[in-house]
Amino acid sequence: MTAKLIDGKAIAAAKRQNMKAKVALLSRKGLVPGLTVVLVGENPASRSYVRGKIRDCKEVGINSQLIHLPETVSEEALLEQIDRLNADENVHGILVQLPLPEQISEQKVIDAIRPDKDVDGFHPVNIGRMMTGQDGFIPCTPAGIIEMLKTEQIDIAGKHAVIVGRSHIVGKPAAQLLLNHNATVTICHSKTRSLADYTRQADILVVAVGRAGLIGADAIKPGAVVIDVGMNRNSEGKLVGDVDFAGASQVAGLITPVPGGVGPMTRVMLLENTLKAAENALKRANHAAG
Ligand code: NDP
Repeated sequence: MTAKLIDGKAIAAAKRQNMKAKVALLSRKGLVPGLTVVLVGENPASRSYVRGKIRDCKEVGINSQLIHLPETVSEEALLEQIDRLNADENVHGILVQLPLPEQISEQKVIDAIRPDKDVDGFHPVNIGRMMTGQDGFIPCTPAGIIEMLKTEQIDIAGKHAVIVGRSHIVGKPAAQLLLNHNATVTICHSKTRSLADYTRQADILVVAVGRAGLIGADAIKPGAVVIDVGMNRNSEGKLVGDVDFAGASQVAGLITPVPGGVGPMTRVMLLENTLKAAENALKRANHAAG
């Protein structure tokens, strides 16, 4: 058996194409969606992610602005910067690239972003909205996973979804979203005993750990949908996921590649969230104008 590939790159490209028209329509109404990315320091991975985000914005017509602060910036100065962005009506989405230097509390920074501009979906208000099934901003990687499943017309309700990893940005929100879509959910982590006993039961397996080759073919149920979030460099410097792709694709029904799977979907969901923030701002302005 050879699994069908879930082509995140192609799904994301189609979504960006679709979004261009929506952004153009909004712009004709006098509102150009705007995303501000705040980058602190010179972390090469962060710089590269930020460059990608700015490039994506350009492609679909979203206004983007980069605020690059020195590694030594104080927490107070960063919080003041966020206050200014919170008050700026041309800024619809604010994203502070993580990780931050150790003198700054990431949680304080996340908490300072206005929830209606929190396009990363990390603010406790947005997390609470997701948990209670209300509309809000959903973190981009889990949102991208659900979008891929929907595009592939995979029925989530009643399926057993097993999530490996419980981070605030991927594992936990992915589990919550799958639960919101009526899956039966199991969450595994570093203290889970006999991991494969759980993963082998998964109709939908989401792996978000950061360890190359963690999930082999023998840990996958035949025909399962396998979503590989992991991004690791192997000994040859090649980007690989957490799943042994060659082996797993002989057992799974559908599988995401790395690269070209979850990564492009994560990026496109940031654009979706920014567009949504701008549309919401327009609705609020129209409402206020009566
Ligand atoms: P974290 O390091 O925050 O979390 C990793 C999770 O994996 C933790 O919950 C940890 O458990 C669990 N874990 C560690 N070792 C094992 C193990 N042996 N068995 C089972 N679980 C284990 O990582 P992130 O969630 O931020 O990212 C995960 C991966 O996804 C990384 O490779 C990252 O680069 C990638 N990523 C990719 C994105 C994309 O767009 N493609 C976006 C975001 C992340 P515990 O909680 O017990 O410590």
